[in-house]
Amino acid sequence: MIADAARQVGGDLVEVRALMGPGVDPHAYRQTRSDIVAMTRADLVLWHGLYLEAQMEDFFHQLAKRRTVVAVAEALPKELLHGHDDYADKYDPHVWMTPVLWQHVVSEVQRALTELRPEAVETFAANAAAHLADLDRLATYASENMARVPETARVLVTAHDAFGYFGAEYGVEVLGIQGISTESEAGLNRISTLVELLVDRGISAVFVESSVSDRNMRALIEGAAAAGHTVQIGGELYSDAMGPDGTYEGTYLGMIDHNVTVIAGALGADVPARGMDGKLSAGF
Ligand SMILES: [Zn+2]
Repeated sequence: MIADAARQVGGDLVEVRALMGPGVDPHAYRQTRSDIVAMTRADLVLWHGLYLEAQMEDFFHQLAKRRTVVAVAEALPKELLHGHDDYADKYDPHVWMTPVLWQHVVSEVQRALTELRPEAVETFAANAAAHLADLDRLATYASENMARVPETARVLVTAHDAFGYFGAEYGVEVLGIQGISTESEAGLNRISTLVELLVDRGISAVFVESSVSDRNMRALIEGAAAAGHTVQIGGELYSDAMGPDGTYEGTYLGMIDHNVTVIAGALGADVPARGMDGKLSAGF
């Protein structure tokens, strides 16, 4: 997602390399030897921060002594952030889940690029303004379509707690099997609690994530079935990684368009089959 922001703002003036590709879980990712080479040679290293890349924090702090390294999500005003369930002194890092929060990150990418190449200030400003306008449009699309979800269906059950900001923005209760980090194990207790909740409240759709194993989700669905309640997979969401490279879903706009369209559609809203601009590959 950060690479996409850098490409949008940098345009032709920058060469961007993403180290974590589609389907990669950033909570668990560790830098490889070739990542280290790429980062020590780069003019600018952008990472997310807010303890998302938990296994790479120390590396980034060391690298920052020698290279220009910016944790782009740490520029967000703290009053916009949610707390972290597992650590009292940390925040929920999943700020890309709403276009409105992500706009702060795009602006921070613009700031970092401009600081590095002040002569390109106007190009970066124009590129950023165009992308921010697209994000405005996406924010409106998300609000309008999520508003069509019936009141009783406003529950989003996912593999891990990546959708807290999404839920707060669009008025949906979010229940993850795993916590805010995928590093925490989901206990059997958590699964049986959620099974009871699915049955009691008649929730019929749950969602898998492209960067997290669906093992827990299958246990949840089987548990509900054993209790006589049928639950379906509402779709696969892009939680912590975008879709395949070279596709619309492999861009930030496409990722969120996909998530919004799949979630709103599966929870009972009447949504445009191919998303905001008719570009989604799998229609809902
Ligand atoms: Zn996550």
